[in-house]
Amino acid sequence: MQLFSWACSGRFTPPVSSSYGLAPTALAYKNVLPSDMKQNRKEDCVKYEECRPQQLDRIIEECPFAIIPWGAHEWHSLHAAVGLDTLKAYHMALDLCAEIGGVVLPPVYCGYQTMKPWRDFRHTLEFTRETVYYLLLQHLEQLYDEGFRVILVLMGHYGGKHVENIQEVVKRFCDCHARARAVAWQDYLPASWVDVKGGDHAGVNETSLLMHYRPDLVDLSQLPAEGELPMEVYGIGGEDPRKASPEHGRYLAELFVAQAAPKIREMLAEVLEIRAAAKGQL
Ligand SMILES: [Zn+2]
Repeated sequence: MQLFSWACSGRFTPPVSSSYGLAPTALAYKNVLPSDMKQNRKEDCVKYEECRPQQLDRIIEECPFAIIPWGAHEWHSLHAAVGLDTLKAYHMALDLCAEIGGVVLPPVYCGYQTMKPWRDFRHTLEFTRETVYYLLLQHLEQLYDEGFRVILVLMGHYGGKHVENIQEVVKRFCDCHARARAVAWQDYLPASWVDVKGGDHAGVNETSLLMHYRPDLVDLSQLPAEGELPMEVYGIGGEDPRKASPEHGRYLAELFVAQAAPKIREMLAEVLEIRAAAKGQL
């Protein structure tokens, strides 16, 4: 069995952007959730590490889709857990899998261009670009080797260079595997396709998502009740997290699934057709 293919290895080119890559946020949104979305949900979602071999065989045969939730341990101000990026991406991945099938890999806490080098915040684990690059490349190659043909890298950490690095890996993988589809999305990206700006850093959107999924990990009383929240002190980017609510988090979470699922289903249809055609030629 081939453990890892270097045959198509492109040269590693360092990303050039130095921006942190925060997207603007907005609380005002349209009602864009399909009303019948819940009715289509499957009963269960699947964690890769909990599957037995026969279960994985069936998933790979029927729905060869895998999600790698990718985030960081990073300062998210005084009110939120340092694992916020990864925790939200993991739960969003589980929601998406529950909707369309496939598996979710254990979340990867491995962030590059975090708040530590950018603003010198503590309680943050910064990894090198190369570590992120090769850890992801080997995940993709191994999942392909196992038979998965649609892979989503769901990015909960949005550092600009980190995102570029991950997208570079995904491009390299896609250039090597015409029978597979891989994409890397920031977890707020699908909502942006319908004009909902979700990306921030410990702001109202990330805080709301954590309040929706893990309310025990948010304590807004740790922030001053009123007044400014300067970036250099609190490390918050985007709208004021004191406006956060679990209801807003739930809206963003459901919008993510509603927008992401059709795109993933399109990719699945393509690869299943390619796979069927290849089997027919044997
Ligand atoms: Zn974050």
